[in-house]
Amino acid sequence: MIVGWWRRRRRRRVRGEPFPPAWLEILARNAPFVARLDAADRARLLGDVQVLVAEKHFIAAGGMEITDEVRVTIAAAAARLVIHLDVDRYDDLTEIVVYPSAYRHPGADPADGAVLGEAHAWGVVVLAWDAVLAGMRNPGDGHCTAVHEFAHVLDRADGAFDGAPELHASEHYRPWATIMQHGFDRLRRRDRTLRRVLREYGATNEAEFFAVATEAFFERPGDLRRRAPALYAELERFYGGPAPRVAPGADGEAP
Ligand SMILES: [Zn+2]
Repeated sequence: MIVGWWRRRRRRRVRGEPFPPAWLEILARNAPFVARLDAADRARLLGDVQVLVAEKHFIAAGGMEITDEVRVTIAAAAARLVIHLDVDRYDDLTEIVVYPSAYRHPGADPADGAVLGEAHAWGVVVLAWDAVLAGMRNPGDGHCTAVHEFAHVLDRADGAFDGAPELHASEHYRPWATIMQHGFDRLRRRDRTLRRVLREYGATNEAEFFAVATEAFFERPGDLRRRAPALYAELERFYGGPAPRVAPGADGEAP
């Protein structure tokens, strides 16, 4: 298809441009996981950051100002999930709306909690910048708003928002469904072992379970592997391994 050909050519060109030193400083400050990537993963991630910054529309809301820091930091979170997949998993994502902090839907009941992030079915992600920064600068706590929302994007890229992204082979779907359902049921039953590594919010529905499990997979892989080995294995088969492995001590064990 001509569009695919054009896009591939344009992406090659974008990846071939030198990575701005100022962007490296932004990543060092806001995305500490990048420093722990091996050389191949790091090169791939930086190229994907360039592609995402070039292609996605970042839209300011609520008085936010969109700077390179905002673009590069959020692109790094998105790129992290696809280091061993492909950045084209985000092709349906067109707009990233950024608020300065937790926002409320206009007209929403004030008793409702403020929203930290959302992924819409029509290709829009909405993020609260302060929540993004807090999640990314605390890499070992198992909570990362940006990773959570981009997991939702991967989930719905196959058309359904159901806790199952497009897997690598048709025979992967059955074990995925069985193991995700088992984990979801355990979390709903308030299983204490699982609750130590998965946020309770994952018990909301299957889509939230996948997003919360993805946060744990990237931020606390050692804990997740110990407490839910089958769940860990399914996520590893999809994501191609946590990238990067956690720093020694951050997760209670060496990488
Ligand atoms: Zn969610």
